[in-house]
Amino acid sequence: MEEIALYPGVTVWPALSSPLSADTFFIRQGETVWVFDVGNDPRRARALNEIPGEKRVVLSHFHADHMGALPLVEASEVYAGAFTCKKLKRATPVTAPLSFGDIQLFPLPSSHAKGCVALQYKDLLLLGDGAYAGQKGGRAAYNTGQLGALLQVLRRVSATTCCLSHRTPLMVGKDRVLSFLQGIYDRRDKNSSYLFV
Ligand SMILES: [Zn+2]
Repeated sequence: MEEIALYPGVTVWPALSSPLSADTFFIRQGETVWVFDVGNDPRRARALNEIPGEKRVVLSHFHADHMGALPLVEASEVYAGAFTCKKLKRATPVTAPLSFGDIQLFPLPSSHAKGCVALQYKDLLLLGDGAYAGQKGGRAAYNTGQLGALLQVLRRVSATTCCLSHRTPLMVGKDRVLSFLQGIYDRRDKNSSYLFV
């Protein structure tokens, strides 16, 4: 599979719709290849195993389109949110920021799924689905508290460009993500914990 250049030092295998599979991002650090989300396609797992170098996998969250192929992937280390780690036999939980040179992993407050993790590399922030809504009673919704916390985290990080999975184009300015999310947050009502979108 051909890696597509996305950003200096970052390549990607784009998301698929069949089987539904999130984008897989690659960042190389010497002999180490950081892989952000492995997707849900066995062919993708086989291709991943053929990439030379020590693979360190980061899972943005537990949904199958982001990590379904993991059992087939040969990785030296897997990092994931605490909730995702409960579902996996062997993974390192990201419960506080972790730094590896110019890569930082940290928990991301999210309405989309429990235990989301973001990866910052230089000016780029990989969010997976973490900035998307979740489901409440069959409707798309943000949890007000999680959304407020997410806005704080996004404002605090130094990166100015975000990658939101499954999206074209993949890269979007953090300002745009912030103004979109702030617009939803501004509609909050003290009588409800959810913001339907
Ligand atoms: Zn998801």
